Amino acid sequence: MRVTETNAAVSGADPDNSGVPTAADAASADVSDAPRFSRPGKANKRAKETRIGLVRRARRMYRDMTVEFPGAHCELDFTTPLELAVATILSAQCTDVRVNMTTPALFAKYRGAADYAQANRAELEEYIRATGFYRNKANSLIGLGQELVERFDGELPGTLEELVTLPGIGRKTANVILGNAFGVPGITVDTHFGRLVRRWKWTAEEDPVKVEHAIGELIERKDWTMLSHRVIFHGRRVCHARKPACGACFLANECPSYGEGPTDPTEAAKLVKGPETEHLLELVGL
Ligand code: SF4
Repeated sequence: MRVTETNAAVSGADPDNSGVPTAADAASADVSDAPRFSRPGKANKRAKETRIGLVRRARRMYRDMTVEFPGAHCELDFTTPLELAVATILSAQCTDVRVNMTTPALFAKYRGAADYAQANRAELEEYIRATGFYRNKANSLIGLGQELVERFDGELPGTLEELVTLPGIGRKTANVILGNAFGVPGITVDTHFGRLVRRWKWTAEEDPVKVEHAIGELIERKDWTMLSHRVIFHGRRVCHARKPACGACFLANECPSYGEGPTDPTEAAKLVKGPETEHLLELVGL
Protein backbone atom coordinates (compact mmCIF):
# COMPACT_ATOMS: atom_id res chain seq x y z
CA MET A 1 0.00 0.00 0.00
CA ARG A 2 1.38 3.37 -0.90
CA VAL A 3 0.34 6.41 0.98
CA THR A 4 -0.72 9.45 -0.95
CA GLU A 5 -0.79 12.97 0.36
CA THR A 6 -4.55 12.79 0.39
CA ASN A 7 -4.94 9.83 2.70
CA ALA A 8 -2.00 10.74 4.90
CA ALA A 9 -2.97 14.32 5.44
CA VAL A 10 -5.85 14.16 7.85
CA SER A 11 -6.97 17.63 8.73
CA GLY A 12 -5.79 18.88 12.07
CA ALA A 13 -5.26 22.20 13.72
CA ASP A 14 -1.82 23.65 13.96
CA PRO A 15 -0.48 23.19 17.49
CA ASP A 16 -1.08 26.23 19.59
CA ASN A 17 2.39 27.67 19.79
CA SER A 18 2.77 31.29 20.53
CA GLY A 19 4.85 33.08 17.98
CA VAL A 20 4.28 30.46 15.33
CA PRO A 21 2.74 31.96 12.22
CA THR A 22 -0.24 30.40 10.54
CA ALA A 23 -0.03 28.67 7.20
CA ALA A 24 -1.38 31.85 5.64
CA ASP A 25 1.42 33.85 7.24
CA ALA A 26 3.97 31.44 5.93
CA ALA A 27 2.35 31.43 2.50
CA SER A 28 2.61 35.21 2.36
CA ALA A 29 6.36 34.81 2.62
CA ASP A 30 6.40 32.24 -0.18
CA VAL A 31 9.23 32.64 -2.62
CA SER A 32 8.20 29.72 -4.76
CA ASP A 33 8.16 31.87 -7.90
CA ALA A 34 11.69 33.08 -7.35
CA PRO A 35 14.42 31.47 -9.44
CA ARG A 36 15.40 28.25 -7.71
CA PHE A 37 18.92 27.20 -6.90
CA SER A 38 20.07 30.70 -7.71
CA ARG A 39 21.97 31.44 -4.51
CA PRO A 40 23.10 28.18 -2.97
CA GLY A 41 24.45 28.65 0.50
CA LYS A 42 22.79 32.00 1.10
CA ALA A 43 21.17 30.62 4.26
CA ASN A 44 24.51 30.14 6.01
CA LYS A 45 25.39 33.78 5.45
CA ARG A 46 22.25 35.07 7.15
CA ALA A 47 22.27 37.06 10.35
CA LYS A 48 20.81 35.33 13.43
CA GLU A 49 17.48 33.87 12.44
CA THR A 50 14.35 34.89 14.31
CA ARG A 51 11.76 32.35 15.38
CA ILE A 52 9.31 33.48 12.75
CA GLY A 53 12.11 33.42 10.18
CA LEU A 54 12.85 29.82 11.09
CA VAL A 55 9.19 28.79 10.78
CA ARG A 56 8.93 30.41 7.37
CA ARG A 57 12.20 28.87 6.16
CA ALA A 58 11.18 25.42 7.40
CA ARG A 59 7.85 25.69 5.59
CA ARG A 60 9.51 26.93 2.39
CA MET A 61 11.87 23.97 2.56
CA TYR A 62 8.94 21.62 3.08
CA ARG A 63 7.21 23.08 0.01
CA ASP A 64 10.42 22.59 -1.99
CA MET A 65 10.49 18.97 -0.82
CA THR A 66 6.98 18.49 -2.22
CA VAL A 67 8.44 19.49 -5.61
CA GLU A 68 11.44 17.20 -5.13
CA PHE A 69 9.47 14.18 -4.01
CA PRO A 70 5.78 14.51 -4.93
CA GLY A 71 5.35 10.74 -4.64
CA ALA A 72 7.26 10.15 -1.39
CA HIS A 73 5.80 7.25 0.51
CA CYS A 74 6.51 4.63 3.12
CA GLU A 75 9.12 2.41 1.47
CA LEU A 76 7.98 -0.69 3.32
CA ASP A 77 5.43 -2.86 1.50
CA PHE A 78 2.25 -3.68 3.45
CA THR A 79 -1.49 -4.05 3.03
CA THR A 80 -2.74 -4.00 6.64
CA PRO A 81 -1.75 -2.19 9.86
CA LEU A 82 -0.40 -5.49 11.28
CA GLU A 83 1.77 -6.05 8.20
CA LEU A 84 3.16 -2.53 8.55
CA ALA A 85 3.90 -3.14 12.25
CA VAL A 86 5.70 -6.39 11.39
CA ALA A 87 7.65 -4.82 8.51
CA THR A 88 8.68 -1.89 10.72
CA ILE A 89 9.90 -4.23 13.46
CA LEU A 90 11.91 -6.14 10.84
CA SER A 91 13.39 -2.91 9.46
CA ALA A 92 15.49 -2.30 12.57
CA GLN A 93 19.16 -2.45 11.49
CA CYS A 94 18.04 -3.59 8.05
CA THR A 95 17.26 -1.91 4.72
CA ASP A 96 13.69 -1.51 3.55
CA VAL A 97 14.65 -3.30 0.32
CA ARG A 98 15.70 -6.41 2.23
CA VAL A 99 12.60 -6.29 4.41
CA ASN A 100 10.45 -6.06 1.27
CA MET A 101 12.19 -9.16 -0.11
CA THR A 102 11.43 -11.02 3.13
CA THR A 103 7.84 -10.08 3.85
CA PRO A 104 5.89 -11.60 0.92
CA ALA A 105 6.55 -15.17 2.10
CA LEU A 106 6.14 -14.16 5.75
CA PHE A 107 2.82 -12.42 5.21
CA ALA A 108 1.54 -15.34 3.15
CA LYS A 109 2.26 -17.73 6.04
CA TYR A 110 1.36 -15.49 9.01
CA ARG A 111 -1.89 -13.73 8.17
CA GLY A 112 -3.11 -12.48 11.53
CA ALA A 113 -2.08 -11.79 15.10
CA ALA A 114 -3.05 -15.32 16.18
CA ASP A 115 -0.61 -16.80 13.66
CA TYR A 116 2.28 -14.91 15.25
CA ALA A 117 1.01 -15.73 18.76
CA GLN A 118 1.08 -19.46 18.01
CA ALA A 119 4.16 -19.44 15.78
CA ASN A 120 6.79 -22.13 15.96
CA ARG A 121 9.78 -20.03 16.96
CA ALA A 122 12.39 -21.88 14.89
CA GLU A 123 10.20 -21.73 11.80
CA LEU A 124 9.45 -18.03 12.24
CA GLU A 125 13.15 -17.31 12.71
CA GLU A 126 13.90 -18.92 9.36
CA TYR A 127 11.34 -16.70 7.62
CA ILE A 128 12.96 -13.51 8.98
CA ARG A 129 16.62 -14.57 9.29
CA ALA A 130 17.72 -12.40 6.32
CA THR A 131 16.73 -9.21 8.16
CA GLY A 132 19.29 -9.76 10.93
CA PHE A 133 18.80 -9.90 14.71
CA TYR A 134 16.21 -12.51 13.89
CA ARG A 135 16.01 -14.03 17.39
CA ASN A 136 15.10 -10.73 18.99
CA LYS A 137 12.75 -9.90 16.15
CA ALA A 138 11.03 -13.31 16.47
CA ASN A 139 10.54 -12.60 20.19
CA SER A 140 8.94 -9.27 19.33
CA LEU A 141 6.64 -10.75 16.68
CA ILE A 142 5.46 -13.61 18.89
CA GLY A 143 4.99 -11.23 21.83
CA LEU A 144 3.16 -8.76 19.60
CA GLY A 145 0.78 -11.47 18.37
CA GLN A 146 0.09 -12.66 21.92
CA GLU A 147 -0.61 -9.18 23.27
CA LEU A 148 -2.86 -8.31 20.34
CA VAL A 149 -4.90 -11.49 20.83
CA GLU A 150 -5.14 -11.05 24.62
CA ARG A 151 -5.77 -7.31 24.81
CA PHE A 152 -7.04 -6.03 21.46
CA ASP A 153 -9.09 -8.85 19.89
CA GLY A 154 -6.25 -9.50 17.47
CA GLU A 155 -6.40 -5.99 15.95
CA LEU A 156 -3.70 -3.36 16.04
CA PRO A 157 -4.86 -0.35 18.11
CA GLY A 158 -4.83 3.09 16.52
CA THR A 159 -3.43 5.29 19.29
CA LEU A 160 0.13 6.15 20.22
CA GLU A 161 -0.53 5.40 23.88
CA GLU A 162 -1.72 1.85 23.16
CA LEU A 163 0.77 1.08 20.41
CA VAL A 164 3.82 1.83 22.57
CA THR A 165 2.67 -0.76 25.15
CA LEU A 166 3.17 -3.54 22.57
CA PRO A 167 6.35 -5.63 22.19
CA GLY A 168 8.74 -4.30 19.55
CA ILE A 169 6.85 -1.02 19.11
CA GLY A 170 8.51 2.16 20.32
CA ARG A 171 7.47 5.70 19.62
CA LYS A 172 9.16 5.81 16.18
CA THR A 173 7.44 2.62 15.01
CA ALA A 174 4.12 3.79 16.47
CA ASN A 175 4.34 7.03 14.48
CA VAL A 176 5.09 5.11 11.28
CA ILE A 177 2.00 2.94 11.89
CA LEU A 178 -0.25 5.85 12.82
CA GLY A 179 0.79 7.97 9.85
CA ASN A 180 0.72 5.27 7.20
CA ALA A 181 -1.91 2.77 8.30
CA PHE A 182 -4.35 4.94 10.27
CA GLY A 183 -4.03 8.37 8.58
CA VAL A 184 -3.11 10.04 11.88
CA PRO A 185 -0.38 12.65 11.30
CA GLY A 186 2.89 11.60 12.86
CA ILE A 187 6.56 12.61 12.71
CA THR A 188 8.98 9.71 12.34
CA VAL A 189 12.39 10.61 13.75
CA ASP A 190 14.82 8.09 12.34
CA THR A 191 18.54 8.56 11.77
CA HIS A 192 18.02 10.44 8.47
CA PHE A 193 15.34 12.73 9.87
CA GLY A 194 17.39 13.68 12.93
CA ARG A 195 20.54 14.32 10.91
CA LEU A 196 18.79 16.52 8.34
CA VAL A 197 16.76 18.71 10.67
CA ARG A 198 19.91 19.41 12.69
CA ARG A 199 21.86 20.25 9.49
CA TRP A 200 19.06 22.59 8.54
CA LYS A 201 19.17 24.12 12.04
CA TRP A 202 15.47 23.48 12.48
CA THR A 203 16.46 22.22 15.92
CA ALA A 204 19.62 21.42 17.88
CA GLU A 205 17.91 18.66 19.89
CA GLU A 206 19.47 15.17 19.80
CA ASP A 207 16.80 13.24 21.67
CA PRO A 208 14.27 11.85 19.13
CA VAL A 209 11.22 12.73 21.23
CA LYS A 210 12.45 16.32 21.67
CA VAL A 211 13.20 16.49 17.93
CA GLU A 212 9.66 15.28 17.22
CA HIS A 213 8.13 17.99 19.40
CA ALA A 214 10.42 20.73 18.07
CA ILE A 215 9.60 19.95 14.43
CA GLY A 216 5.92 19.60 15.27
CA GLU A 217 6.01 23.26 16.28
CA LEU A 218 7.47 24.34 12.93
CA ILE A 219 5.40 22.36 10.44
CA GLU A 220 1.62 22.13 10.24
CA ARG A 221 0.18 18.98 11.77
CA LYS A 222 -1.56 17.90 8.57
CA ASP A 223 1.87 17.69 6.88
CA TRP A 224 3.70 15.65 9.52
CA THR A 225 3.48 12.23 7.83
CA MET A 226 4.46 13.46 4.37
CA LEU A 227 7.18 15.64 5.89
CA SER A 228 8.66 12.51 7.46
CA HIS A 229 8.66 10.66 4.13
CA ARG A 230 10.13 13.59 2.21
CA VAL A 231 12.88 14.34 4.71
CA ILE A 232 13.83 10.64 4.79
CA PHE A 233 13.77 10.51 0.95
CA HIS A 234 16.05 13.57 0.81
CA GLY A 235 18.36 11.98 3.37
CA ARG A 236 18.58 8.72 1.49
CA ARG A 237 19.00 10.19 -1.97
CA VAL A 238 20.78 13.55 -1.60
CA CYS A 239 21.84 14.59 1.89
CA HIS A 240 23.95 11.57 2.86
CA ALA A 241 25.56 11.28 6.27
CA ARG A 242 29.16 11.32 5.07
CA LYS A 243 29.08 13.10 1.73
CA PRO A 244 25.96 15.17 1.11
CA ALA A 245 25.44 16.19 -2.51
CA CYS A 246 25.40 19.93 -1.77
CA GLY A 247 26.28 21.05 -5.29
CA ALA A 248 23.26 19.20 -6.68
CA CYS A 249 20.79 19.87 -3.86
CA PHE A 250 17.49 21.60 -4.52
CA LEU A 251 17.36 22.82 -0.91
CA ALA A 252 20.79 24.47 -1.05
CA ASN A 253 19.35 28.00 -1.11
CA GLU A 254 17.82 27.49 2.31
CA CYS A 255 20.38 25.21 3.92
CA PRO A 256 22.79 26.63 6.50
CA SER A 257 25.01 23.55 6.09
CA TYR A 258 25.59 24.03 2.36
CA GLY A 259 29.22 23.09 1.79
CA GLU A 260 29.34 20.11 4.16
CA GLY A 261 29.58 18.03 1.01
CA PRO A 262 31.03 18.76 -2.45
CA THR A 263 29.68 21.97 -4.00
CA ASP A 264 31.02 21.22 -7.46
CA PRO A 265 27.85 20.33 -9.41
CA THR A 266 29.42 17.54 -11.45
CA GLU A 267 30.99 15.88 -8.44
CA ALA A 268 27.83 16.32 -6.37
CA ALA A 269 25.59 14.95 -9.12
CA LYS A 270 27.40 11.61 -8.88
CA LEU A 271 26.36 11.34 -5.24
CA VAL A 272 22.62 11.61 -5.92
CA LYS A 273 20.95 8.19 -5.68
CA GLY A 274 17.61 6.57 -6.33
CA PRO A 275 14.91 6.35 -8.99
CA GLU A 276 14.22 10.12 -8.87
CA THR A 277 17.81 11.05 -9.80
CA GLU A 278 17.01 12.43 -13.25
CA HIS A 279 14.19 14.58 -11.85
CA LEU A 280 16.37 15.80 -8.95
CA LEU A 281 19.20 16.82 -11.28
CA GLU A 282 16.80 18.53 -13.66
CA LEU A 283 15.50 20.66 -10.79
CA VAL A 284 18.96 22.11 -10.25
CA GLY A 285 19.71 22.51 -13.95
CA LEU A 286 22.06 19.53 -14.30
S1 SF4 B 1 22.90 18.18 0.62
FE1 SF4 B 1 24.09 19.92 1.49
S2 SF4 B 1 22.88 21.73 0.87
FE2 SF4 B 1 21.54 19.96 0.65
S3 SF4 B 1 20.42 19.78 2.55
FE3 SF4 B 1 22.22 18.47 2.76
S4 SF4 B 1 23.83 19.75 3.72
FE4 SF4 B 1 22.22 21.11 2.93
